[in-house]
Amino acid sequence: MKQKIWLSSPHMSGGEMKYVEEAFSTNWIAPLGPNVDKLEKQLADYLSVKSCAALSSGTAAIHLALIVLGVKAGDEVLCSSFTFAASANPVVYLGATPVFIDSESETWNMDPVLLEEAIKDRIKIGRKPKAIIVVHLYGMPAKIFEIVEIASKYKIPIIEDAAEAIGSEYDNKKCGSFGDISILSFNGNKIITTAGGGAIVSNNKEYIDNARFLSTQAADKAVHYQHSQIGYNYRMSNILAGIGLGQLEVLDSRVESRRKIYTRYVDAFSKIEGIKFHKEPSGKYKSNRWLTTIVIDPDLTGGLTREDIRLELEKENIESRPLWKPLHIQPVFLSCPSYTNDVSYNLFVSGLCLPSGSNLSDDDLNRIIDCIFSLLKR
Ligand SMILES: *Cc1c(COP(=O)(O)O)cnc(C)c1O
Repeated sequence: MKQKIWLSSPHMSGGEMKYVEEAFSTNWIAPLGPNVDKLEKQLADYLSVKSCAALSSGTAAIHLALIVLGVKAGDEVLCSSFTFAASANPVVYLGATPVFIDSESETWNMDPVLLEEAIKDRIKIGRKPKAIIVVHLYGMPAKIFEIVEIASKYKIPIIEDAAEAIGSEYDNKKCGSFGDISILSFNGNKIITTAGGGAIVSNNKEYIDNARFLSTQAADKAVHYQHSQIGYNYRMSNILAGIGLGQLEVLDSRVESRRKIYTRYVDAFSKIEGIKFHKEPSGKYKSNRWLTTIVIDPDLTGGLTREDIRLELEKENIESRPLWKPLHIQPVFLSCPSYTNDVSYNLFVSGLCLPSGSNLSDDDLNRIIDCIFSLLKR
């Protein structure tokens, strides 16, 4: 069996160990310490935002963002439908209801037209949404200026889910800096990783101070562990923050590698009818190309489908994956309201994520491309 090629595997630089060893030698083996402080400072600087708290996951960051913004049981929160379930799960943890918004076809992210329609509609029935969770899927920036404008018109705060989009930019501004609160993820398959981890960032220091307080069990200032609020155990460990510091040093080069991989695929398949790529709609958009995605039109490929390609790659021990199944058609969310236009559904049916890890070799890429070509020729 040929060696496995993964969709997106961790890519350590070697620089991580210095910080990890420091944590060991100074015995900062805890969910606090110098690496955590440094990582928070460096992330805030990288994004040009005022405050950052490093947490145990991106999901925890969304959960705390919702709490900080005052979302409570019975409330509604608007959320991109075309995303990973972790974007919306925390809404349900709070007993609130996600209301899903479909995508526009340019960036594949939240459609501003549907968003405004939904807001008006929810207000009309007396259920003004408490927040908007907007995702930059696969690293492609959403139409964030339009979304911010609508949100401020109706005075609804934005939670920017930049879990897949660290290093992406819109109009020379970093994704992760557009939300009232923004979140990042450092899970194992993300563009940089701490094994598991996340962060919550904002220009509003009070939000982040509050999130940090809640993330460490909400202990009031008293020697006897007094609590006047329910807390969580969501802080990032000082060891993992050390991995994060090493990873952050190479973030820009990781983005460059992923963008090169995207270009390699585009060059290879540009003349193939029926395979389309997810283009940046204009020069204002810069995707980190976390995952290269293709959309297959079987009418133009002689009947060849996304699933044919996926299975052929699997036979060659190459991992690929359909695009995210939209949340409005996920069994667990079927009872939630949604505003749809079929864009995300059609992408789900015909789209495929190709291996895109920054540690893929030229040989790996050739193997993947050859495998798809051999299928196309048949
Ligand atoms: C990975 C991911 C999350 C969750 O992050 P974790 O760190 O895995 O909890 C949230 N939203 C999106 C879009 C993601 O891809």
